[in-house]
Amino acid sequence: MTEISLAIHGGAGTILKSAMTPEKELAYQSALQNALDSGYQALREGQSSLRAVEQAVISLEDSPLFNAGKGSVFTAQGTHEMDASIMEGSKLNAGAVAMVKGVKNPITLARLVMEKSGHVFLAAKGAEEFARSVGADFEDAEYFYDELRYQQWQEVMGTDQTQLDHSVSKDEKFGTVGAVALDKDGNIAAATSTGGMTNKKFGRVGDSPMIGAGTYANNRTCAISCTGSGEYFIRGVVAYDVSALMEYKGMNLKDACNEVINHRLLDIGGDGGLIAVDAKGNVAFSFNTEGMYRGYRTSNGDEAIGIYK
Ligand code: ASP
Repeated sequence: MTEISLAIHGGAGTILKSAMTPEKELAYQSALQNALDSGYQALREGQSSLRAVEQAVISLEDSPLFNAGKGSVFTAQGTHEMDASIMEGSKLNAGAVAMVKGVKNPITLARLVMEKSGHVFLAAKGAEEFARSVGADFEDAEYFYDELRYQQWQEVMGTDQTQLDHSVSKDEKFGTVGAVALDKDGNIAAATSTGGMTNKKFGRVGDSPMIGAGTYANNRTCAISCTGSGEYFIRGVVAYDVSALMEYKGMNLKDACNEVINHRLLDIGGDGGLIAVDAKGNVAFSFNTEGMYRGYRTSNGDEAIGIYK
């Protein structure tokens, strides 16, 4: 019996070993390790899976290496608009924010929406107003500025092209981030946070803040956090689809994840991956891309960090 488990991701995409320098690889590995450690520490102290996934995601949001929080990609207007969601599997409580600007840790704001707003999903200016009313931390534009993200934006600025962070092949800086966990009380939770797509406009929102698409948790089945081409994950209702296969078809975690990522999502042309945990503490990773930044740790002593296939 696994008592506690945690898995994290930092985005999936065209992540090739040939395009990676040893320094970069090390930087990613240590950022993933830090996030894993902070989430796992919370679980070990007896905190809830909800807290643990928030902690792990905060650590990834605070790293400029990933496309979430600090390090978020540029919109067509040269701003940063972030999306995040969080869900716990015992009562199916959830919170989400979309298109928020200046919020240091969108995942914490998503939790505050869940716990203090009486709503599930707040967007744009209203979400920022709520954030101020509950004392969430804000940062100025300089905090969110990242030279490489800026260069990525320059490549498509002024065009109608949007770019998935993880499909940029020149200098890969991938990354939506997420975490899933099981705590000692047998409750599971999931969290996802992103800056979305480079050069996005018209208020584009992806799957990450959408409960059922990019994030889902239900103690009866699993907790899921996704990353990839958001439009396809929305259409495939990917996170919930994994849960539904387990609940209605009796599939195990691993098979359900593979069915959704390697068949159903691929069938509609979607690329990306997900991390998953079930109430028994089993962990699963599935992705149909070259790589996915990922890591996990369980109370059985299993632990690993991975980048490539
Ligand atoms: N799924 C995210 C989005 O479409 C992007 C990503 O996972 O990198 O906004």
